Amino acid sequence: MLGSLLCAIIGHKINRHRVWHDGRDFRSRCRRCKANMIRTREGWERFKPDIHGTDRKLEHHEGEG
Ligand SMILES: [Zn+2]
Repeated sequence: MLGSLLCAIIGHKINRHRVWHDGRDFRSRCRRCKANMIRTREGWERFKPDIHGTDRKLEHHEGEG
């Protein structure tokens, strides 16, 4: 997919209108490839359950609050 190729080269594009909190950290999605993203102390990076923990809400449900 072209989107994910671009992401691999220049980085993911955070959808800043769709940032939410999973109870521990801020989360969002990449606007191009829809990858799950997490905000760490260093900045936004791709969410990896084995690194960032599995005890989180995996999905953001619209209208949940
Ligand atoms: Zn991406």
